[in-house]
Amino acid sequence: KKLVYFFANGVAEGNAEMRDILGGKGANLAEMTNLGIPVPPGFTISAEVCRYYYQHGRTYPEGLKEEVEQAMKRLEQVTGKGFGDPERPLLVSVRSGAAISMPGMMDTILNLGLNDETVKGLIKMTNNPRFAYDAYRRFLQMFGDTALGIARSKFENALEEMKKQKGVKMDIELDADDLKKLVEIYKKIYEEEGKKFPQDVYEQLWLAIDAVFGSWMSERAVKYREINNIREDEMLGTAVNVVAMVFGNMGERSGTGVAFTRNPNTGEKEVYGEFLQNAQGEDVVAGIRTPLPLAELKRLMPEVYEELMKIMDKLERHYRDMQDIEFTIEEGKLYMLQTRSGKRTSKAAIKIAVDMAKEGIITKEEAVLRVKPEDIERVLHPRFDEKARAKAKVIAKGLPASPGAATGVVIFDSKKAEEMGRSGEKVILVRPETSPEDVGGMAFAQGILTSRGGMTSHAAVVARGMGKPAVVGAETIEVKEEEGFFRVNDVLVKEGEWISIDGATGEVLLGKVDTIKPVGLEGEVAELLKWADEIRRLGVRANADIPRDAEVARKFGAEGIGLCRTEHMFFEADRIPKMRRMIVAKTKEDREKALNELLPLQKEDFKGLFRAMAGYPVTIRLIDPPLHEFLPHDDEQIEETARELGISPKELKDIVRSLSELNPMLGHRGCRLTITYPEIAIMQTKAIIGAAIELKKETGMDVIPEIMIPLVGHVNELAFLKKIIAEVADKMIEESGVKIEYKIGTMIEVPRACVTADEIAKEAEFFSFGTNDLTQMTFAFSRDDIGKFLPEYLEKGILEHDPFKTLDYDGVGALVEMGTKKGKQARPNLKVGVCGEHGGDPRSIHFFHKAGLDYVSCSPYRVPVARLAAAQAVL
Ligand code: ADP
Ligand code: MG
Ligand code: MG
Repeated sequence: KKLVYFFANGVAEGNAEMRDILGGKGANLAEMTNLGIPVPPGFTISAEVCRYYYQHGRTYPEGLKEEVEQAMKRLEQVTGKGFGDPERPLLVSVRSGAAISMPGMMDTILNLGLNDETVKGLIKMTNNPRFAYDAYRRFLQMFGDTALGIARSKFENALEEMKKQKGVKMDIELDADDLKKLVEIYKKIYEEEGKKFPQDVYEQLWLAIDAVFGSWMSERAVKYREINNIREDEMLGTAVNVVAMVFGNMGERSGTGVAFTRNPNTGEKEVYGEFLQNAQGEDVVAGIRTPLPLAELKRLMPEVYEELMKIMDKLERHYRDMQDIEFTIEEGKLYMLQTRSGKRTSKAAIKIAVDMAKEGIITKEEAVLRVKPEDIERVLHPRFDEKARAKAKVIAKGLPASPGAATGVVIFDSKKAEEMGRSGEKVILVRPETSPEDVGGMAFAQGILTSRGGMTSHAAVVARGMGKPAVVGAETIEVKEEEGFFRVNDVLVKEGEWISIDGATGEVLLGKVDTIKPVGLEGEVAELLKWADEIRRLGVRANADIPRDAEVARKFGAEGIGLCRTEHMFFEADRIPKMRRMIVAKTKEDREKALNELLPLQKEDFKGLFRAMAGYPVTIRLIDPPLHEFLPHDDEQIEETARELGISPKELKDIVRSLSELNPMLGHRGCRLTITYPEIAIMQTKAIIGAAIELKKETGMDVIPEIMIPLVGHVNELAFLKKIIAEVADKMIEESGVKIEYKIGTMIEVPRACVTADEIAKEAEFFSFGTNDLTQMTFAFSRDDIGKFLPEYLEKGILEHDPFKTLDYDGVGALVEMGTKKGKQARPNLKVGVCGEHGGDPRSIHFFHKAGLDYVSCSPYRVPVARLAAAQAVL
């Protein structure tokens, strides 16, 4: 089996399709080579070796050693240099890279192949001792840190010390002698740490390869996979890339940089990137010196800039996606060192997809598929309330690294931020800069603020990927982590105090600034969702109880209301006394009297909903919860309520007791209630149909009410109520002289209803799966108590998902499928929808599409997400 894949001079053994075994980095280096783009030669050790390594007690498959040595020989041939050759030394970088890019893995080792002899060769070759010793000291540091586990700070401190002695600020101000001395100091550090620096270059190489494979299971990498829900078995492991070095640190005509083919924050089609003159590798990302914008490169080296632009354009068209690239310039010659699909904010993801479709690079369908449902959700994330913002004091300004408004208490420690975030507290993680160890804290913070780093720093890149607001490089902020505060000029902010950050402007504000949710869709989001609407088959409705929610839902593109919970209307302060009077009524007459007082109020509610949903169907569910929910339970409140109702506290207490149930969720609720008290159903019918008639008379607007009866398990329950409701409704409509098309249907939320759906469909004109209750009853999991054991179920792998969030396909899903099939068989024009939480969950939406439902209904803010997911289900 082939374990090593070579690439050089326009010919590669691998290609972009081979991500699984070459990793993203290796596959794309091969692809770029094949495209004729200048890439330094090298080879990739397959990720299959990584899998073998862990399955065989950290050993390598037979033949690997020989294959690597052969590849090294080929590399020597194509470069005309020798690995370990004291005259013309070949230097390489050793880089990790898995199929899915993982910032949590090993740091790259550059300049491998240097030792006390080869460094002299490098001086001879380049006639540049400063450069050679700079490369050597960098190698000693990276190798010591990454391969041998010597703390990086040891080297950094020595470097700082050297700069101090010389009275200089920056690395580049150190001369050849200084760097030569630094090399000796670094070697001493190895000794002090009890580590041996291998002078043998092959020993260096194998230790570096071991380190890459070892990093696959490092705490950092494991954590990264955990946070990003990457399962271990999704990837073989990491590949190892060994690439001939090109040098960005050879002087003013050399440099290194990173760039995006489009702006990763806004999605704008523009040049976006940074570079550093006379620098190597990670200097740009590490924020050692402030990098220059790419526009400067145009000024300094116009030909190189032109070539870079051409290559970037070629890469974008070839990969048909926005690319994030790394490049190095060695004495005026450009090399590409990496390309990959760039991480982007949700806003940028949407804009780039829409723009690329318009530019003809991708199709509309591809654009719809490229945007993740979460992206849609995120662009609807909160912004600052402008009034509150105007009042707040801006204390600092950094780079707008990842848009969105966030407010929370200042926390400096990532572990603490993670703990607090997990328990629902709002925190802003404030750090000088972030590293992969901070990813946990970042994930659970509302936002991230750093005092150092650029737009491509770790904090910026990771935050964008997470969709978290972030402000980075706010340099006026002085973070005093140990002392527990940060300072900006004369403002002191202690840990635990509130701040707010605006990731779109880079502003840091003092205190808690209120955020608001945007209403309505505009620009590219609206455009993309319009394309989604053309593709999807499923209808999308909203769950809304009040006109305001219904209006929001319409703005987000809802095509009707799939669930209006009428009981919410009874809980309002001016209504609950009337409701209670109805409940405590001893006679039917008394009850009807109380109901008659509720009727006009309900009618107005419905009118509002119908108006907001002009011409779209509105499904109204008749009263559902058990009556005791409307009554007080503690003694004090009972006494007060009894007074209001004009009965004795004892009487009320007796009523409360008589209504109390051991298992109210399975008790006297839903249709059972209206079968006992048909007058409630009659009042609600009068309110619904009355509202429809009035509105139609007043405005001529089409009104489509759908009366939904909850908790039906037996067809006779539905038949009984339907008869009563239809009688009332038909009579009202006839007397009114206007035409109202209404429907009577049922919520399907009892397993028995799914099993006998063919019977029920003989009476029901529509079904709406109430998957919350259906999940509860199918699993026999109490929704209110699942918190006690669900975390354990997930951890122990008994369940893969929370079944109340993502539909359980095999159980609850099978019932939904059966109910839909049987129902439609019995009544071909039966309309079938779903109105549980699952109606807004993308994975569940895929299932509903396949199961042949007609629509999903979800909360207004999830309507855009559902529109996209429903289209993706088709593609
Ligand atoms: P990461 O995955 O963290 O980006 P990379 O392996 O891409 O790590 O490398 C880190 C830095 O080193 C990048 O700036 C990259 O361009 C640079 N680099 C890697 N290999 C070489 C090489 N052969 N010559 C010059 N620079 C290199
Ligand atoms: Mg890289
Ligand atoms: Mg229910």
